[in-house]
Amino acid sequence: MDYSAYACPRCPGAEGDPGVLDVIYDYDAVAFDWRQTPLSETERRDVFRYLPVLPVDHVGALLQPGGTPLVSAPRLGASLGAEIWLKDETRNPTRCLKDRATAIAVTIATTLGHRELYCASPGNAAISLAAFCASQDLGCHVFVPRDLSPVRRAWLERFNADVRIGSGPYDDAYAEAEAIGRTAGWYSRNCALNPFLVEGKKTVAYEIFEAMPGAVPDMVVSPVGDGCTLAAIGKGFRELYSLGRIDRLPQLVGVQAESHAPLVHRREGALPVPSNAEGTRAVSIAVRRPRNAIRLLQELDHSKGIMIAVSDREIDNAYRRLAQKAGAVVEFSTAATLAGLTVLARLSSVKGKTIVLVLTGGRVES
Ligand SMILES: *Cc1c(COP(=O)(O)O)cnc(C)c1O
Repeated sequence: MDYSAYACPRCPGAEGDPGVLDVIYDYDAVAFDWRQTPLSETERRDVFRYLPVLPVDHVGALLQPGGTPLVSAPRLGASLGAEIWLKDETRNPTRCLKDRATAIAVTIATTLGHRELYCASPGNAAISLAAFCASQDLGCHVFVPRDLSPVRRAWLERFNADVRIGSGPYDDAYAEAEAIGRTAGWYSRNCALNPFLVEGKKTVAYEIFEAMPGAVPDMVVSPVGDGCTLAAIGKGFRELYSLGRIDRLPQLVGVQAESHAPLVHRREGALPVPSNAEGTRAVSIAVRRPRNAIRLLQELDHSKGIMIAVSDREIDNAYRRLAQKAGAVVEFSTAATLAGLTVLARLSSVKGKTIVLVLTGGRVES
């Protein structure tokens, strides 16, 4: 496979989006493969279970992300009259969905003979990369924002990563990473640039599909930063549709913090965002120049999706309800899912709907 193409040469690069390419498969061949060896006979439970729809032909990571449970949350659903399920990504090796992309990054990097990898991240992708690199003796260079929390820094230090503290927020760390990492010839674990990595994230959709035999959720809700995660999940469902496994697509619901809501602004028909919010504690999604905007906006079109902005107060409230009504401890950014759904339920009924909240991360700050 040719792993050299990343961005579309014809894309305008609007607002920082480089026009990340998409990986397309021979879906007839995949359908044929899965008729010969049905998924139910596949022994692996991690992301590599879905090898025929991944851009790699072997397993090159030791840690095993994916295979996370879909947990029922009837007490959360009761007040909304909806059926709520939690896709518990906090069970991944480093407590975050990011591990799914890292497994692909490490596999491709080692295939190409790279021994050094890098990424820019508000924390979770960096910690994920650091853990995977530690487990197989690869060099790990991470570029993080200046205000990285002590908890996140401690995780990076545990894995002995080369930590480069940036001069400003994540958007600046991203530019610094690309300048240094590319020149050094390290392998990029930036989903916002490298199109192969989100293929790992899309396996969330395949797992939801397998956990709900015969049913498709009405909505899938995820926090949104660069847009890679929700776009990948949307792609996963579209592939299942192309493969004839499902007969409709779930509506994608993306949630951003009011202070960092560029994709809410760019989504047609979205509600106006209050402009008084200055900062947010939702650091994992505090992105001002989303690198995967085009991809996510397209996926939202396919699924008649919605973008919602929420305040930190709403996230805080959702954070407590997730713990008190579902026994789920998540990181602050992740609680934006329930906050977004709560706002949505006030605007239009979600009664009778089947809704999956993607609990993207579980690393709490204290
Ligand atoms: C990275 C991340 C997201 C959002 O992912 P994007 O691909 O940047 O949109 C959401 N929640 C958590 C916990 C994350 O780490």
